[in-house]
Amino acid sequence: MLPSTRYVEPVERTLDSTFKFNCFKEISCFNKCCRHTDMLLTPYDILRMKKRLGLSSDEFLKKYTYVHIDENSSHPFAVLKMLDEQDGRCPFVTDEGCGIYEDRPANCRYYPVGKGIMMRESEKGPVPEEFFFFIREPNCAGYDQDKEWTIESWRKAQGVDIYDDMNREWAEIQLRRDNPGKPKLDKSKQPLIYMATYDLDRFRRFVFESGFLNMFDVDPEEIEKLKTDEIALMKFAFKYLKYILMLEETLKIKDEHLKKPDAAQAT
Ligand code: SF4
Ligand code: SF4
Repeated sequence: MLPSTRYVEPVERTLDSTFKFNCFKEISCFNKCCRHTDMLLTPYDILRMKKRLGLSSDEFLKKYTYVHIDENSSHPFAVLKMLDEQDGRCPFVTDEGCGIYEDRPANCRYYPVGKGIMMRESEKGPVPEEFFFFIREPNCAGYDQDKEWTIESWRKAQGVDIYDDMNREWAEIQLRRDNPGKPKLDKSKQPLIYMATYDLDRFRRFVFESGFLNMFDVDPEEIEKLKTDEIALMKFAFKYLKYILMLEETLKIKDEHLKKPDAAQAT
């Protein structure tokens, strides 16, 4: 989530950390958390929600999100747009709760737990490591309940472990990109990064309808998969992100497009 007036405990927690919490329809604060919340979305969030709503990624992004450019890293992020004219409520909240509950975003699933990722030193050098913290909203009565969880059991109960698996590679790309010493992101790359991160249907057209497959050597089996498998397409988009962010040579330019040595220099 983006910074807000919420109280975020500054202590780092692990998957074994325990807390008491419960959320149910009869609770006094029901639905109060689904307003005025700047929900940062992940690639897999968009994939699930656009499918649920029967929209293309482009339609979903235009209707339900705005772009937030991170000041430090220049990464473009999609953020779920609240309805200003309706007391800042989420477009998906209903009297019965979340109208897209089975496909709600990862941050909604985690709440009241927050998750971060950082580089830690290890014997193999710096490795990405997840950490957790608690978010305490003044209006949330969930912490007054007696049901006890570990962060791990909460994560499983909310189905957010699957989201983490799907988004991990993307989170690590940002971390590696923002590592100290890396130059600030070239702004001209922002539209491509945004497309490959969030706008999967446009990315598919980019792969199949531009000169992309003439330029890059992609395995024919993988090409076939990308036509119908959206998860494979999302993972291929992560590969593309690594390539354009110059993190890894994940794509190979076809030999015929590699620059031939200048004849004058060769002699
Ligand atoms: S208990 Fe907290 S999470 Fe549940 S409805 Fe109330 S404010 Fe939202
Ligand atoms: S997507 Fe669902 S859970 Fe998340 S803020 Fe909106 S209504 Fe609430």
